[in-house]
Amino acid sequence: MYSTNGATRALYSNTRRFSTATRLLASSGLKINPERLWNTLHETCKWGATHRYGDGPTDTGMARLTLTDDDASVRKWFATEVQKLGCTLSVDQMGNMFARQSGRLSSPVPMIAMGSHLDTQPRGGRYDGILGIMAALEVLRTMKESKFQTNYDVGVVNWTNEEGARFPMSMCSSGVWAGAIPIQKAWDLRDIHDPDVTLRSELERHGYLGDISCSSDPATGYPLGAHFELHIEQGPILPETGRSIGVVRGAQGYRWLTMTVHGKDAHTGTTPFSARQDPLLASSRMIAASHDIAKKHDALASTGIIRVPSNASTNTVSSQVTFTLDIRHPQDSVVHAVQDECLRAFDAIAAQDGKGVWFDWTLDTDSPAVEFDHNCVASIQAAANQLVGREKSMLMTSGAGHDTVYTSKHCPSAMIFVPCKDGVSHHPTEYCSPQDW
Ligand SMILES: [Zn+2]
Repeated sequence: MYSTNGATRALYSNTRRFSTATRLLASSGLKINPERLWNTLHETCKWGATHRYGDGPTDTGMARLTLTDDDASVRKWFATEVQKLGCTLSVDQMGNMFARQSGRLSSPVPMIAMGSHLDTQPRGGRYDGILGIMAALEVLRTMKESKFQTNYDVGVVNWTNEEGARFPMSMCSSGVWAGAIPIQKAWDLRDIHDPDVTLRSELERHGYLGDISCSSDPATGYPLGAHFELHIEQGPILPETGRSIGVVRGAQGYRWLTMTVHGKDAHTGTTPFSARQDPLLASSRMIAASHDIAKKHDALASTGIIRVPSNASTNTVSSQVTFTLDIRHPQDSVVHAVQDECLRAFDAIAAQDGKGVWFDWTLDTDSPAVEFDHNCVASIQAAANQLVGREKSMLMTSGAGHDTVYTSKHCPSAMIFVPCKDGVSHHPTEYCSPQDW
C-alpha cells in the first residue's frame, strides 16, 4: 500500500505521458481526460492493492475478490461518484449495480450501458475489468462537464463476481441476468476458502441484495438497450501487431471434455512392453496428438489437468489416467471437427502399444461461439477508424469469456479491446498504457 498523497504526487508526475493520449470521442467531439482516468483508476486500487513488484506507486497487483470488504468499499465509492454525476443507481438481486444517466428525451426505453467488473483475481492486476468501469465513469464525467446530453439514457453496469475466483462461477451475475444461470444456484455458491459463507450471505452482509429481479425482463428486471464493454485484450495480438484498438466481433466457441483412459497395473521391471496396458503412455500420446490436430485447424487444444490414482508408484504401470481437453475456435464447426478428429486419433492410439488400452469420455461444457451485434461492431469500427486510423485497429475474436457474452443474448452488444503489456493478465504486473486510452 502507499499513501494517497504520495501516490497523487507521483501520478501527476506522469503528466507528460498523457500529451498524446487525449482522444476525441468519435462523433460527439468530446475529449475524455486520460489523466483523470488514470488517477481515478489507481486511486480506487487502494482497495485491494497487494503483490508489490516495484517501487512505483502503482507497482502492485490486486486482490479484490468479489463481495469482500475491499469490494464493498469500491462499490460504495462507485455509488457515490455516479450519484454525484446525477445518475440514479439501481441494484438487483445479484448485487449488479446499474447507474443511469437520463437522456434529453426522458425516454423510458432501456439505457445503453457500458459495463464491466470491479472484482479481480486473487493475484490479479489493476486493469482487468476495472479499466472498463473507470473508462465508463470517465465518459459520464466528460459528458457532464461538457454539458453534453444524449437523447436516450446511458449508464454504467458493475457486474458482480465476473471473475468467479471467490465464488467459483465466472461471469456469474451477467449469466443470471441473461437467464443462463438459475439465481438460486448462484446464491448458493460457497466461498472457496470458507464453506459457511455463500454468495447470498455476502450480498446480505454488504447490503447488496437488491430488490430488483436479476433479469433482462422489462416487467421485473433491468433490461438494457445495448451493452458495450471496454477491456484489456489479455493476449499478445494487439501489442505484437502495434495496434491500439481491437474491435471485438464475438467470442470463440469452446468444449471441455474429460477423458478417462483405462489400463492395468503392472510391475515395471517384469512386464515387457508387449504385455502392458499403459494408460499414461497412451494419454501422453493423445495429448500430443490433440495439439497437432488443433494446430492443423488453426484452433486451440489444451490439457490443464491430468490425474493418476493417488496410490500410483514409480515401479508400477498406472491403471487409469484422467485428463481434460479444452478445444477452442471462433467457429463451432471447427471445434466439432477438432473433437471428432481427436477421438478418431485416440482410438488409434489406444490400440497402439502392448495389449492396448480403452477410454471413455464426457462432455462437461459446450459453449458455442458468440457473434456480437453487427451494428455495435460497426459503430466501434467507425469510431476506431476516426480515432486511431484503420491501420491501428483490427477486428478480433475474444479468446476469454466476458459479461458481454451473456448480455449479447438479450441486447445488442460488442466489446472494445485495448492492449495490455506482453498480453499479461490475471497477474500483478498486468499493465495497460494510458497512451492507449
Ligand atoms: Zn475481465
